[in-house]
Amino acid sequence: MELRNVIAGEYVESGELVEKISPVDGSLVASVHVADVGLVDRAVRAARRALDSWAATPVATRAAILRRVADGIEDRFEEFVAAEVADTGKPATQARELDVARAVANFRAFADVVSAAGQPSFLTELPGGRQALNYAVRSPLGVVAVIVPWNLPLLLLTWKVAPALACGNAVVVKPSELTPWTATLLATVLSDAGVPDGVYNVVHGSGATGYALVAHYRINGVTFTGSTATGSSIMVAVAPKVRPVSFELGGKNAAIVFADASLEAALDGLTRSVFANTGQVCLCTERVYVERPIFHRFVEAAVRCAESLAVGDPAEEATDVGPVIRPRDAERIEAWLKEAEDGGATILTGGTRDGSFIAPTILSGTRSPMKVLDEEVFAPVMTIERYDEFPAVLAEVNRSRYGLQAGLFTRDAARIFEAYQTLEVGGLIVGTAPTWRIDPMPYGGVKDSGLGREGVRYAIEEMTEPRLLVMAFR
Ligand code: NDP
Repeated sequence: MELRNVIAGEYVESGELVEKISPVDGSLVASVHVADVGLVDRAVRAARRALDSWAATPVATRAAILRRVADGIEDRFEEFVAAEVADTGKPATQARELDVARAVANFRAFADVVSAAGQPSFLTELPGGRQALNYAVRSPLGVVAVIVPWNLPLLLLTWKVAPALACGNAVVVKPSELTPWTATLLATVLSDAGVPDGVYNVVHGSGATGYALVAHYRINGVTFTGSTATGSSIMVAVAPKVRPVSFELGGKNAAIVFADASLEAALDGLTRSVFANTGQVCLCTERVYVERPIFHRFVEAAVRCAESLAVGDPAEEATDVGPVIRPRDAERIEAWLKEAEDGGATILTGGTRDGSFIAPTILSGTRSPMKVLDEEVFAPVMTIERYDEFPAVLAEVNRSRYGLQAGLFTRDAARIFEAYQTLEVGGLIVGTAPTWRIDPMPYGGVKDSGLGREGVRYAIEEMTEPRLLVMAFR
């Protein structure tokens, strides 16, 4: 199979092909046509040409098209599942229940919200007792660059493309070169649903293609999900021309478990959160801090949970944990586990690698600057440490350079309030794991975890700019 760039509704070859390799068995999934600077420029110009008429399309029409997109993904549901599994190596059950199902829901959610969105208006006083009517209409940003990573390729894409199109923007998408398939497949669904040619364009390639896209002077806004390092370099690339950027970056999410919490709820939530998508989600829990009286009980039960997980072929329905994305990531993870063990940490279960498969792993006795404790591991790996004092554990959570979300398990309202006020995170999730994300909530991180918020209402704000009209009357 060959995957081509999508520019103004045409499937464009570049002549430069890269191989997309399966993370499961190293077989060839597809040959992908890489876009050079010239093709990126063509895609941005195509989006620019399509923009005005799409922005002027009535909201109700845009919303109806987005609903047809949702129907179109549903019609080809299993095709999207197969593409996600082939690209990422994630378990098919997860692709079905999470990635593709929520991609469908996203197009419906943004269609609903954009249809119902009103515009603020208010009166102000002018000198001399006159009054002015103020009215602010939100206008699309223009041509938006959408750059997404490989871990949830379709879902993360729809969290950006659905609001962008709902608000009247045109987009140029750069999927990860590791997962190019579903962004290309989506182009056919969008086109069949009535999205005009040029409103959704796809350019394939690595970081160089992404750089050419964000640095393009006709790009009016950038929405990026990926690592903090790439986010920083995009910040520099866009700097010569001031324009809005929104970043969803890395995480090192922690959960604190008090002895008064339901042990079952904490274990259930946290083990699912640690091992979801083979630990390769920005919202996965990587650090767990457990109050001393229940530490041993918690550890024993967590080890049992980890050991009950089925590791293997993601296409098998029974598989819980698949391979990590690349052999070189598996080697990195193995080296980080060894560094921790050599430094005195204990591997309580797992710790082994078979090709790109890492056994679900739990460590304890870690300390800074071990990489498993301080860096984003992005693997089915968690550290569990005990604590006695709440302020000390809050400070330990805040020590991370990341600040995406945190989890807290306690029945004590005073502690919840203290954590809410103290923790440097975009969201505190109480009573379940920090992996929680639903559309109505503002989602995003602080510190090195990001800039801006997603979530239906918030994404619509990110994809538009308010333009004020003031009318003074005698
Ligand atoms: P990367 O930052 O490596 O890549 C993200 C995207 O940026 C890819 O499409 C990549 O292309 C592209 N890219 C790379 N270099 C540049 C550049 N200089 N200019 C423009 N684009 C570029 O992240 P990963 O793909 O490794 O994804 C994992 C990271 O994403 C983790 O840190 C994770 O926490 C984070 N993430 C954050 C989420 C959140 O909501 N906060 C959600 C999901 C993931 P290519 O892959 O082809 O090199």
